[in-house]
Parts: sequence; structure tokens; C-alpha cells
Amino acid sequence: MKCKRCQIPAVVALPSHHTAFCKDCFLVFARRLVERAIKEHGMFTFDDRILIAISGGKDSLALAWQLKDLGYNIEGLHIDLGIPESSPIARSYAERFCAMGEIPLHVIETAKLGLAMCDVKRRVKRPICSVCGQTKRYLFNKFAQENGFTVLATGHNLDDETSRLFANVMRWDVEFLSDQGPVMPAEKGFAKKVKPLFRLTEFETANLCFLAGIDYGYAPCPYSSKASFPIYKNLLADLEDIQPGRKIRFYDGFLKDGRQGFAPRGETSVDIQPCTTCGYPTSAGECGFCRLTATMNEDDGKRETRDVKRKA
Ligand code: SF4
Ligand code: ZN
Repeated sequence: MKCKRCQIPAVVALPSHHTAFCKDCFLVFARRLVERAIKEHGMFTFDDRILIAISGGKDSLALAWQLKDLGYNIEGLHIDLGIPESSPIARSYAERFCAMGEIPLHVIETAKLGLAMCDVKRRVKRPICSVCGQTKRYLFNKFAQENGFTVLATGHNLDDETSRLFANVMRWDVEFLSDQGPVMPAEKGFAKKVKPLFRLTEFETANLCFLAGIDYGYAPCPYSSKASFPIYKNLLADLEDIQPGRKIRFYDGFLKDGRQGFAPRGETSVDIQPCTTCGYPTSAGECGFCRLTATMNEDDGKRETRDVKRKA
């Protein structure tokens, strides 16, 4: 198997693109996919201050590496979720990578906000991934808004995007379908959000890390079995094996012809107002983050009262 561009032996085969590349040509290929995504969807320019959500996993590190290499003005934000089995490992990879790449990294510890996810899981009845996702979205958005970042970039890849799309279609979740895409504009207190890796598969971002020498962490969250997207990811992976290129055609087709059939968020009946406690945009009076914090504090209060009673 030879590299399609330069004819030396290839190291990566990409059936969905009917091609194969050597190391250097693969890195050029990946860079072009990212540049195409940024340009086609007007994600940002060299004047923007870009905040990257850095989990310490391969996608976020590949994104930071690529945007830094392209010369964009980036900083990272890592959220330490307070999960003993995975958070310290993820954080150490994020910190090491940013220190070596000279990328400024900010860290928020949810435990310091009374929201260590291991405690939340024990004490809140909702599915943990839903609470955790909501907390991360809140903190990223708030940090970006309060610190003058013009864009918030995440490392979602094609597998993430197609599995989410597949799940939303299976539920005919009209609100999410109207919102899904590689760019969500800044509006009503939400920062602009972009996904520059959406044209790369998980396999391609893993290869990008490997060939670029990025040391990424593999610290699986112990609660990840509760997440539903992996089911859809696996189904699509099987389909991609039989029909290479199916995933990108599914997603491109949705962006081109499908999404327009669903009303944009601003035109739905959902009324977005500032949270009555913190000012974050919400449709529920008080936002989910403030309600979660209140529940955890209430729980703490009850526990303290119980402890006092026990001691009395
Ligand atoms: Fe949070 Fe769920 Fe992801 Fe774990 S798997 S980090 S709980 S969203
Ligand atoms: Zn709030």
C-alpha cells in the first residue's frame, strides 16, 4: 500500500476516502480537513480569542495541537470533575500537554463548587451523564463569557456528531435536531461554539495524535456505561465497515438538506430568559446548574442536621 500523494509506503489506510497516506501526508490531510471545516462554516479567524475545552483525551489534545500549529490564538480550560478513578489522570495529561505546548491552561475543580461528580452521582437521582454534561456546558460557557473569549471550541469528531444525530433522529428530537451542527452562534447569553474536528473520525484523530507525537490520556470514566451514545456509535461503526464513507455523507446530507426542515432554536416556542439566581440563559426560571447546587447544599444541610441530632 502506497501513499496516494507521494507514493512512499503508507502508514494509514482510509477506506472512507478511498486513500492511504504516509505520516507527513496524513498530517497534511488532517490539517486540510480542519482548515476546510473552519473556513466552510466561518468558525473563527486569527483575530478571535479561542477557548478550547481540554479534557486530556485524544480529541481535545488533537484539536489544541492543530489549532496551535495553524497559528490561532488559543487557551485551554480543563474541568476536573472530581471522579477519583479518572479525573486525576485526565487532568495530568491536559496539564502536561499544555505545559509542553506552551498553551495557557485554566482549571476549574467542580469539587470546590460542592459538585464532585462522585458525590453528585450518589446523591442526585437524575442520570449522572446528563448532570455532568449540563455542569460542563455551564462552566465552559460562563468561563468563556466572563473572560472575553469570542469562541468556545470542542473536540467533537465525526463519530460524536453522527452518533448524536442518529440518536436525535431515532427520537425525532426536533429541538436538538434544529440545533445540531458544527457551529452554534453566540446568542442570548450563550458563547459561540464550534467543532473544528467534525470532519475527522475518531480513528483519524487517534492517528493524528499518534503521528504528531501527542501523548494523550486514556482514563475511561467509570460512569461511561450509563451514556447512550456509544450504542449508536457502534451501530454506525458497523455500517461504516460495510459502506465506507456512510458517516460523513449522513452528516453532510443533514447539514445540506435535513437541518433546514427543523425550526432554528430562536423560532421555537422555548422562551430563554436569564436564570433568576445566576443570570445564565435558561428556559426554566432558575437554571439547572443553580438547582443542582441548591439540591447538593440542601442535602448537605440535612446531613449536618442529622449528624447534630445523632451527636445530641
Ligand atoms: Fe461525565 Fe458521563 Fe462523561 Fe463520565 S461518561 S465524564 S459522567 S458525561
Ligand atoms: Zn443559574
